Amino acid sequence: MKFFPEKCKIEDKPMHPFIDYNEIWQHINNTKPEKQWIRDIIKKSLNKERLTLKETAALVNTNDADLIQEIKQGAKELKEKIYGNRIVLFSPLYIGNKCINNCNYCGFKSTNTYTLRKTLTDEEIKAEVETLESKGQKRLIIVFGEHPDYNAEYIAHVVQLIYSVKKNKGEIRRININAAPFDVDGFKEIKKSGIGTYQIFQETYNPQAYKWYHTGGKKADYEWRLTALDRAQEAGLDDVGIGVLFGLYDWRFEVLGLIRHTIHLEACYNIGPHTISVPRIKDASGLKYDNKYQVNDEDFKKIIAILRLAVPYTGLILTARESAELRNECLKYGITQIDGGTIIELGGYSQPKFKNNDQNLNNKQFKINDTRSLNDIIKELIEADYLPSFCTACYRKSRTGEHFMEISRPGHIKNLCTPNAILTLAEYLLDYATPDVQQLGWKKIEKELSKLEQYHNIHELKKRLELIKNGERDLYF
Ligand code: SAM
Ligand code: SF4
Repeated sequence: MKFFPEKCKIEDKPMHPFIDYNEIWQHINNTKPEKQWIRDIIKKSLNKERLTLKETAALVNTNDADLIQEIKQGAKELKEKIYGNRIVLFSPLYIGNKCINNCNYCGFKSTNTYTLRKTLTDEEIKAEVETLESKGQKRLIIVFGEHPDYNAEYIAHVVQLIYSVKKNKGEIRRININAAPFDVDGFKEIKKSGIGTYQIFQETYNPQAYKWYHTGGKKADYEWRLTALDRAQEAGLDDVGIGVLFGLYDWRFEVLGLIRHTIHLEACYNIGPHTISVPRIKDASGLKYDNKYQVNDEDFKKIIAILRLAVPYTGLILTARESAELRNECLKYGITQIDGGTIIELGGYSQPKFKNNDQNLNNKQFKINDTRSLNDIIKELIEADYLPSFCTACYRKSRTGEHFMEISRPGHIKNLCTPNAILTLAEYLLDYATPDVQQLGWKKIEKELSKLEQYHNIHELKKRLELIKNGERDLYF
């Protein structure tokens, strides 16, 4: 296994974590955000180059209100340049909340006796998936606590089960997972089942804070978690997502930690993370949390803009932990994927007794703040001139692993992403949308088509749209 061949001072200690606490703080403490330099950094990013730790530290240290505005504006421009106006939609599906770990911030921690423990049966999973399909979902992230019951074989079984569920015209076309780290063999098993992205959050890159928050179970081992994606890569699983739980430690350190992790993956495997998630801590049953590092909304928006600029080629995910208003605003600064119609109670999609605003924290991992339906989210996206997308084409055409693809291949967005977004939106409008959303949606499609007049495949796109209107499904480029 190729561990840490990157050029850094820890290079000669193969299992030493690549995160160096002092190195990160030195960057933060010794980097001055000179105005011209910040502008040059934004320009570099607009040229689609990943930023260094030092450059990211300069952005993180920027406190001048006008310069922060320029950072946000740069992020907005970059997003439009690389990703266009499309927003990818998905839905989380909680499978089981048994957990051997004791993460102080999480409602599922083992010492929380108030949480109702449950693992969905195969029948219950089927019912959940059918309900999700009947709303129009095509992409899921399935979520598990860490428990011997949720081993790689079980997770692979759940993935295959979900792919097999088809209700009317509905089907799940891409399943990502958020689960505890495995050994190499475990990752191989998971990869075989046909997952999209394997997502794991380091929670905090500071080993001391990590120790304080993770007081029991396997997750207490900082290095085992930090090196999870190295094992995933060795197993051939190269589509990975990273994240931290903002609020556990100083956000400036965590942003640099994410970039350091990205640099490590790029240097060792030639592939950065497919996505970065930005969960921010929310209320939870039994929450034990030092709010000294709480991230306010203004800093949170700045974090998103900085991450957008720092890693131009990586998708940014913002979940329903945040309010609709904040999510809508953050779309501008670089978010590319959001969940919609989210219910995180176990079995909550198929059992109407679970309402997300019921506030009973013992039924869920944490409180969510955006309970809009998928239909409402799509409506608001279209009204704000975004193009909602359920596209799963790249993964199914084996266009994976090339995370520079969207920026390295000119025309990727115009030739593939936008047409696929249009085709998947058309399916949604025909099969699931309310009449008002249908009306808005077809207008939006017309508008997008008119922008594609010079597109070499416009006739084929229009032909496929007609086929979809006539009942065919799952057509993509
Ligand atoms: N058990 C797996 C693990 O720990 O890797 C799956 C993770 S958990 C089901 C998904 C993520 O939710 C965690 O990695 C953590 O970042 C986040 N999370 C946990 N408690 C939270 C809280 N109170 N507020 C917001 N996010 C939280
Ligand atoms: Fe368990 Fe994950 Fe919650 Fe920690 S964050 S208690 S590992 S479910």
